[in-house]
Amino acid sequence: MPHLPDETEVAVIGSGFSGLGAAIRLRQDGVDDVVVLERADDIGGTWRDNTYPGAACDVPSHLYSFGFAPNPEWSHSFSRQPEILAYLRHCAGRYGLLPRIHLGHEVLEARWDDAAARWTVRTTRGTVRARVLVSAAGPLSDPALPDIPGLETFTGTLFHSGAWDHGHDLTGERVAVVGTGASAAQFVPEIQPLAGRLHVFQRTPSWVLPRRDRTLGRVEKRVYRAMPALQRMVRTGIYLGRELYVLGFTVDQRLLRLASRIARGHLERQVPDPELRAKLTPAYTMGCKRIVLSDDFYPALGRPNVEVVTDRIERVGPRSVVTAGGVERPVDTIICATGFRATDPPIAYRIHGRGGRSLADAWRTGMRAYKGTTVSGFPNLFLLLGPNTGGAHTSVVLMAEAQHEYLRDAVRFLREHDVAAVDVRPHAMHGYDDAVARRMDRTVWVHGGCRSWYLDRNGRNTTLWPSFVAGFRRRTARFDRDSYRVRARAAAGVPT
Ligand code: NAP
Repeated sequence: MPHLPDETEVAVIGSGFSGLGAAIRLRQDGVDDVVVLERADDIGGTWRDNTYPGAACDVPSHLYSFGFAPNPEWSHSFSRQPEILAYLRHCAGRYGLLPRIHLGHEVLEARWDDAAARWTVRTTRGTVRARVLVSAAGPLSDPALPDIPGLETFTGTLFHSGAWDHGHDLTGERVAVVGTGASAAQFVPEIQPLAGRLHVFQRTPSWVLPRRDRTLGRVEKRVYRAMPALQRMVRTGIYLGRELYVLGFTVDQRLLRLASRIARGHLERQVPDPELRAKLTPAYTMGCKRIVLSDDFYPALGRPNVEVVTDRIERVGPRSVVTAGGVERPVDTIICATGFRATDPPIAYRIHGRGGRSLADAWRTGMRAYKGTTVSGFPNLFLLLGPNTGGAHTSVVLMAEAQHEYLRDAVRFLREHDVAAVDVRPHAMHGYDDAVARRMDRTVWVHGGCRSWYLDRNGRNTTLWPSFVAGFRRRTARFDRDSYRVRARAAAGVPT
């Protein structure tokens, strides 16, 4: 385990896709003085934590990988979790990052010291001072447990899909699954054959499209190995195809009609029972919630040992789940597939900017950041996959990579111009946020007739980018110093 230095130029919180990518790209620019602080005992972020049976990515592998590190070895068009985790480990090793990753270092607090123009980052295993702090803690890293009365009194086995209990055998058990989003759709078909009885508690049905996964054969891999340019072309093709969805999501929802028809046909073909089909038919516009890609979710829900329960869960008893009207279903295990704290990230309570103000306090009325990356009052802090950077239609790795470019250029600027601190001007941040909100106003995520994790408690969509990835890339291609208060090192008497 490397020793945590007292001082570093850049400290990165988190070793998922966005954090690893940032550290790799900075090192490629000659910024060698980088530490990555990781709370867990392994790297990989959400791809380390989400090990539930069937965990896979619903974005094609060629796009769900770093542009600078194409992988000709993907075994499927949609990669499985172990392969994605192996890819991240491979990248960390190949780009010489392992000596800079500090595992088991959970960030307890990061405080901006204005006089010294440094972040003091206190972790469970030591403290480091950094000129630049990069928070890559991930929007989908902290599980959200449902607020169901009595859940804490349950005496059986209870766990979240994002922290799967692999030591627990579900064979022959009575199992309750709460939630029917992307995670449940992947593990329900895997556990259905094991469980004695499986109750799937659905609050809102998902729109489900066929996944059409395929294995990538030896010849294909050999071709990609020999011609990386061809793999890049395929990646570009997938990227452009996915961008088309933006028009349906953000401009004219009528464009989603074809996809909705395909989803309805998929449901009709896979669910012959009209009663079950009615339960699984969404009553909101497609895209309002994350679209699920699956070929085996519907068939699993139709098996004789499975019951789809649409009555509201009233409470959980010591060994049962009770729905509206007092109907009690005895269960041995409850699996919460209830998503993550995307709009109220715990890390925001631990980062304190100028005057000691926490990021959570700055976000009291909702998350906002300039270009999803910088927040006024938090100098030299760069958020990766921050507010409004999510992609409902495409690979979020593309958004992180756009932010990497912005971060690289900002660090270059700090170095080349002997700058102590940059702090985004409030009017630049609010102007940007207003423009995002105006664009958001026309989208299916706001007007689609659903409530999703994309929205915060005030009903604002603070998670997704409401346009093409290309537009975000253009905005983040350069560090636009005019939008920042810039404090020179010499003028401020800041030590170097
Ligand atoms: P999710 O999409 O947030 O789904 C949570 C589910 O739990 C929903 O069905 C929700 O119902 C239900 N739920 C929440 N609280 C509840 C309560 N108190 N009582 C009853 N039901 C409740 O979570 P997720 O499936 O873990 O997916 C989260 C995100 O992770 C996805 O949208 C996606 O971005 C990502 N993900 C990606 C992949 C992939 O393949 N790349 C796989 C898994 C996850 P409502 O819909 O009514 O709120």
